[in-house]
Amino acid sequence: MAITLKDLSDRYAVCKGDKFRLKDFAADDTWKLKSKEHATDLMEHSLERLAELQARLYAQNEWALLLIFQAMDAAGKDGTIKHVMSGVNPQGCEVTSFKAPSARELDHDYLWRALKALPERGRIGIFNRSYYEEVLVVRVHPEFLAAQKLPQKLITNHVWKERFEDISSFERYLDRNGIIVRKFFLNVSKDEQKERFLKRLDDPKRNWKFSAADIRERQCWPKYMEAYEDTIRHTACGHAPWYIVPADHKWFTRLVVASVIVETLESLNLKFPEVAPEVRKEFAAARAALAKER
Ligand code: ATP
Ligand code: MG
Repeated sequence: MAITLKDLSDRYAVCKGDKFRLKDFAADDTWKLKSKEHATDLMEHSLERLAELQARLYAQNEWALLLIFQAMDAAGKDGTIKHVMSGVNPQGCEVTSFKAPSARELDHDYLWRALKALPERGRIGIFNRSYYEEVLVVRVHPEFLAAQKLPQKLITNHVWKERFEDISSFERYLDRNGIIVRKFFLNVSKDEQKERFLKRLDDPKRNWKFSAADIRERQCWPKYMEAYEDTIRHTACGHAPWYIVPADHKWFTRLVVASVIVETLESLNLKFPEVAPEVRKEFAAARAALAKER
């Protein structure tokens, strides 16, 4: 039987983290789809559906959708965001990239900059990296935590557990306010990352994407994987699931992400606002006025 967008979305979802293990998810998985050509119809269908659902989300102006992308370098965050959002109305969508915090940002709590970037009702907000860096890169590099100007007394052995709790509470708060959270870990293998780095080094058009820091982070690969696994274990839940998206084949990554977004929006039962009968009566007058024009 042919697979559906819902099958794809369900297959990579982690809604309860306690038994989560990264090694149960293959980075090069493409499930029953043998090639990009095999997936063309599904991809086209998902992008069409996404455009239709976004129009309703925007018109209804009640729910908002927050999509969080986390990954190692060169896993394809940028390309996935660009591709999946290619069919949506730019007015209803905003992408925010989170880099190392500025001096001003370090003068605030770590959620401050994320709060300011949350999507309005009716919109899709995309976080290219996010507050999850606070339990990933900051955990892998303790010097980043030291630079955060936290009162010394607050930095204990419980700091990561406390951050997981605070992030989970924050996401519950968002959910209770009608901001639906979906989190993607683009799961690229270390071998595929190497291939992509080599391409960036060899191809002049891709040179700009390469940074020496990428090699340093690559050397911390096992620590990052541990941090990702622990993070997903502690922060995956029904209202803010993680999706472990295979990322060795870009076409498949894009299809899975599009499927998740479509399925999430489908579940909201979005409707164009209905016009009240008294307003509808005014339509006749408007039509008549337009007809009189020459
Ligand atoms: P690209 O795919 O283009 O490399 P990128 O998301 O890696 O995209 P970069 O400008 O290369 O963008 O890197 C941003 C860096 O900022 C990442 O290494 C990330 O870990 C780091 N960063 C993000 N948030 C924090 C934070 N709170 N503390 C410290 N570093 C952070
Ligand atoms: Mg980078």
